Amino acid sequence: MARANAAYYAGRDPFSDFITAPEISQIFGEILGAWCVVAGARLGGPVHLVEAGPGRGTLMADALRVITRAAPGFLQGGAVHLIETSPRLRACQADALRPFPVSPVWHETLETVPRGRLVLLANEFLDALPIRQFIRMSDGWGERYVEGGDWRLESLLDVPPELPTRDAELDDVVEICPAALAFAEAVGERLLADPGVALFVDYGTARSLPGDSLQALRDGRPTSPLVDPGSADLTAHVDFEAFGAAAQLRGAQNFGVVEQGRLLASLGAVERASALCKSAPEQAGAIRSGLDRLMAPERMGRLFKALALASPGQVAPPGFEPDGGPFSTTGQRSSRNDD
Ligand code: SAH
Repeated sequence: MARANAAYYAGRDPFSDFITAPEISQIFGEILGAWCVVAGARLGGPVHLVEAGPGRGTLMADALRVITRAAPGFLQGGAVHLIETSPRLRACQADALRPFPVSPVWHETLETVPRGRLVLLANEFLDALPIRQFIRMSDGWGERYVEGGDWRLESLLDVPPELPTRDAELDDVVEICPAALAFAEAVGERLLADPGVALFVDYGTARSLPGDSLQALRDGRPTSPLVDPGSADLTAHVDFEAFGAAAQLRGAQNFGVVEQGRLLASLGAVERASALCKSAPEQAGAIRSGLDRLMAPERMGRLFKALALASPGQVAPPGFEPDGGPFSTTGQRSSRNDD
């Protein structure tokens, strides 16, 4: 599965197969840009702005529009760093960021991003990382592979330590994403070494749950993960509990999970939409329907969740305050979703 997805991102325009939040509405990237300004200002000096898996570069471009306007000095002494493996998408990202006074630096991994204060964003990055699937059998555990266009089940003598085995019943599928856990550990270590904050938005569960979440999409439609590997986008639900715990173990604070709809509401997305509608009334319908798709609980508002990590001693980032905080427009607690 790992190789199939790397081939997919390197060889195709993935955005013909699925659409992500920043491609649906500019408000998504603008709101995250404002989040970076507030969270970054608390770090007390120049920051490296890092994005993992920037896709077409739309989120970063929308964020930079806000950042360069609201806090022109934000990147002075720091830089924009993009963690991206696909040469094709790196070229798209370069095009998207050309209008801004930044010279992005590309990286294969977080390890080469220079030390220093950092603000890190990642939207739909973790779900693209390859998973391993295990099946609870009567006499132990098996691992399921795709091989030669079919599934193969192999009994395991050694169960990987990361496998959350406690509540599994017979025939349950349990997934782990070693690359996501490794990324959580790398971010956790970095946040222990340097002041910073990180925001991950993705679809998944707040708690580790059994279940087969592997999905293949081709041209926007579900397809079999077995057919023509490398030609469809493969994704899996993110296990935010395991991800946050792995980062926390390495020293980061884990502020846990807030649903995307709640996060956008508490950061002022509705107000931003009204302002946009006022300045472009002819586009009001499209602006409102885009935001509804991101925020409505039955659409992306609940399935998509955000998790924030921060260095020890940092206060809760905007939208993650236990009491709703100064960004809350409703006065409600931000939801710590327990599904
Ligand atoms: N954040 C974007 C794109 C999401 S698609 C958006 O919201 O629109 C996933 C992105 O992660 C793509 O840019 C893909 O090339 C990148 N990616 C996938 N696996 C990666 C890996 N192992 N290392 C770095 N980037 C990766």
